[in-house]
Amino acid sequence: MADTTGFLKFDRELPPRRPVELRIRDWKDVYTARQNGEDPLFPTPEVRKQAARCMDCGIPFCHHACPVANLIPEWNDLARRDDWHDAIERLHATNNFPEFTGKLCPAPCEGSCVLNLQESPVAIKQIEWEIIDRAWDEGWVEPQSPTERTGKKVAVIGSGPAGLAAAQQLTRAGHDVTVYERADRIGGLLRYGIPEFKMEKSVLDRRLDQMRAEGTRFITGVEVGGPADGDLSTEQLRAEYDAVVLAGGATIGRDLPAPGRELAGIHLAMEYLPLGNRQALGELDDPPINAAGKHVVIIGGGDTGADCLGTAHRQGAASVAQLEIMPAPPDRRDQDANPWPTYPMIMRVSSAHEEGGERLYSVNTERFLGNEDGTVRALLLHEVERVEGRFQKIEGSERELPADLVFLAMGFTGAQREGLLDSLGVEMDQRDNVVRDAEFMSTVPGVFVAGDIGRGQSLIVWAIAEGRAAAAAADTWLTGASALPRPVTPNAVALR
Ligand SMILES: Cc1cc2nc3c(=O)[nH]c(=O)nc-3n(C[C@H](O)[C@H](O)[C@H](O)COP(=O)(O)OP(=O)(O)OC[C@H]3O[C@@H](n4cnc5c(N)ncnc54)[C@H](O)[C@@H]3O)c2cc1C
Ligand code: SF4
Repeated sequence: MADTTGFLKFDRELPPRRPVELRIRDWKDVYTARQNGEDPLFPTPEVRKQAARCMDCGIPFCHHACPVANLIPEWNDLARRDDWHDAIERLHATNNFPEFTGKLCPAPCEGSCVLNLQESPVAIKQIEWEIIDRAWDEGWVEPQSPTERTGKKVAVIGSGPAGLAAAQQLTRAGHDVTVYERADRIGGLLRYGIPEFKMEKSVLDRRLDQMRAEGTRFITGVEVGGPADGDLSTEQLRAEYDAVVLAGGATIGRDLPAPGRELAGIHLAMEYLPLGNRQALGELDDPPINAAGKHVVIIGGGDTGADCLGTAHRQGAASVAQLEIMPAPPDRRDQDANPWPTYPMIMRVSSAHEEGGERLYSVNTERFLGNEDGTVRALLLHEVERVEGRFQKIEGSERELPADLVFLAMGFTGAQREGLLDSLGVEMDQRDNVVRDAEFMSTVPGVFVAGDIGRGQSLIVWAIAEGRAAAAAADTWLTGASALPRPVTPNAVALR
């Protein structure tokens, strides 16, 4: 039973981030690393107090809002009691990679926490991180190799969180699993996209070591259905494997076809961020797209834009502005349009926003303006207002915003059809997502679908949930029955 008065005794607290002036001089995590088994700025007794705030509600809305259906009240109570060993067992029961979600999840669970009725939810995500990070320190995260082999071969295409979750589950079910990744390293957006200061790549690598030890095979630099020599053809894929899990992500970035788009210095965010990832690891001193000394404008007010912002500051940008066509969200939720327990659509300040830059709302880019040499020099903007659901220009509000470098961070339009998906012949929907049935199977028998490739651009926690669900479905299809859990919470509060 929970501490019945914990929420009365303790306020919500989160660990402090490292000082801005220090952290923008390096690429490391914005939070301090554990030393001697605990976070020096947020020691274990503090985490236990936060866990004690959980009321173990009769109807745990947090659990229903979590896409992997984490057993949140159970491990909150175990953390409160200092029983971290059982806490990680309960956490791993529903989530293969709590370190990814503990670092990166936007925590829809906290939006639905009953204490969020008073806007001070339990610090669920922080407790999740503490449980798993401590488990790694203690050596409790060990390979779980299957005791029996099925003799079935499964190919997982794509090594983001969806592919990794599917691969780990299928390997543990005894199948012979190979993960194909066209990039030079495993991890999908966890590797190339999400910056080091949000999650250090060592966090990913230690999990990949566990997966290798369990028997999952990884092949990098091979595009399945791709055009290069050495790529794996779709025919080979079908001939060699008994089942396939498509987990290739929603990789096509949304462009902005405004006049002047052809000018040099305008890039999709995902052309820029992977170079920043390599710079952070010391592989590139001077990346070909570098914000150092430049006036940077980011179009798109979401997380990808914030990742560009933090990267540009670490490179030493002269100025950074982040533009958003939507109006600034409110500081507090609108109780009529956005009531508890839905995810609160409120103003959020990410670590990158704390580090500087200007956020402009209700603005639209009319055209890009160039120098004589064909490089971008400014954006012509205007303000917009919403009239009957459509954005309308406010006449007379035009102005120039200087820009040497522009990043387009306006989301993704779907999966890449060309290559694998076209040659497999899977049906796609109108949003360029791969169509799948309730069993996570595409329209091609034996070809399963998990993560952004099927649901469109989403979240890591959804990718993990779908990877687990697709694995259970594929296991059933291969063997007639499956002991793997099917986790996708039917009524989870979808975020994206
Ligand atoms: C910059 C950025 C920051 C984000 N930050 C967050 C965050 O903080 N929190 C959060 O919850 N979500 C975040 N997201 C969203 C999250 O990263 C995605 O929802 C998640 O990674 C989707 O996982 P996935 O496994 O479906 O695909 P991905 O992670 O996109 O991985 C797909 C992989 O498949 C590979 N691939 C594709 N086709 C082939 C092929 N034919 N052969 C071989 N390999 C192939 C690709 O190279 C890629 O590596 C962010 C997204 C971006 C772009
Ligand atoms: S995975 Fe996300 S939604 Fe689920 S408990 Fe963790 S932070 Fe909350």
